[in-house]
Amino acid sequence: MFLKGKTALVTGSTSGIGLAYAKALAAEGANIVINGFGEEAAIEAERQGLETLSGARAAYSAHDLTKPDQIEAMMAGAIADFGGIDILINNAGVQHVAPVEEFPVDKWDLIIALNLTSAFHTTRLALPGMKARKWGRIIQTASAHSLVASPFKSAYVTAKHGIAGFTKTVALETATFGITVNCISPGYVWTPLVEKQIPDTMKARGMTKEQVMNDVLLASQPTKQFVTVEQVAAMALFLCRDEAAGITGANMSIDGGWTAQ
Ligand code: NAD
Repeated sequence: MFLKGKTALVTGSTSGIGLAYAKALAAEGANIVINGFGEEAAIEAERQGLETLSGARAAYSAHDLTKPDQIEAMMAGAIADFGGIDILINNAGVQHVAPVEEFPVDKWDLIIALNLTSAFHTTRLALPGMKARKWGRIIQTASAHSLVASPFKSAYVTAKHGIAGFTKTVALETATFGITVNCISPGYVWTPLVEKQIPDTMKARGMTKEQVMNDVLLASQPTKQFVTVEQVAAMALFLCRDEAAGITGANMSIDGGWTAQ
């Protein structure tokens, strides 16, 4: 249990990739703060499950990370409760699929606020403690879309390219403080986020569900397999190890070969 005594905050961790990160970090003994939306009883069951896995504490934050004042409340609460955040995983994200000239302005604002700007706020608030303790890990769930684009995803691709640049900048600013800052860039991972975009992609491209799955989603991935949440979480766990202290400012692709093409 190499993370005993450490505290990890994972944004957007009531589901999908974020929940897998939380479980992997808890299995190594970390205190965990999970965050996101969902059904109260299901989230409480997950929170208790994390404590059973870790033998440490797990807390839940229901804060809406599109709102800077709510991010400040979440961070202040977690720091007061656990004495600091050692591992910050910026993972909360949403998607919307539409041609740019029809892209709803409120969806653009939401995606930029959640997928990009929330990471600026959590990072600026976590860094003073990490610098003081001379240890920290910041990991962003970016995406293959931080490296390449797809049509109809203008806000998402913009936010993900943005977070890749933010990561490099913060890595340079923190390089002598024992802090590493990296992106993990998955290809398509089978989670609610991917499932939910199928109807819009069907509409935008005039395709059936099967065509979207095979000709759009898996068409990008030479392995013809979805990436699993456990594969993504295993990379995050590695980045938290002392052996990964030399990896900073990197963008780690887990995309079945997508961006090699
Ligand atoms: P998901 O929908 O399963 O999880 C999203 C999480 O974010 C949930 O916990 C949800 O409650 C939370 N969330 C949504 N709005 C929020 C808000 N306003 N404030 C706080 N939390 C909020 O999706 P996922 O696929 O696990 O995605 C997680 C991250 O991985 C996202 O950043 C996504 O862009 C990225 N990603 C996903 C894939 C994929 O194929 N699934 C690929 C590459 C990158």
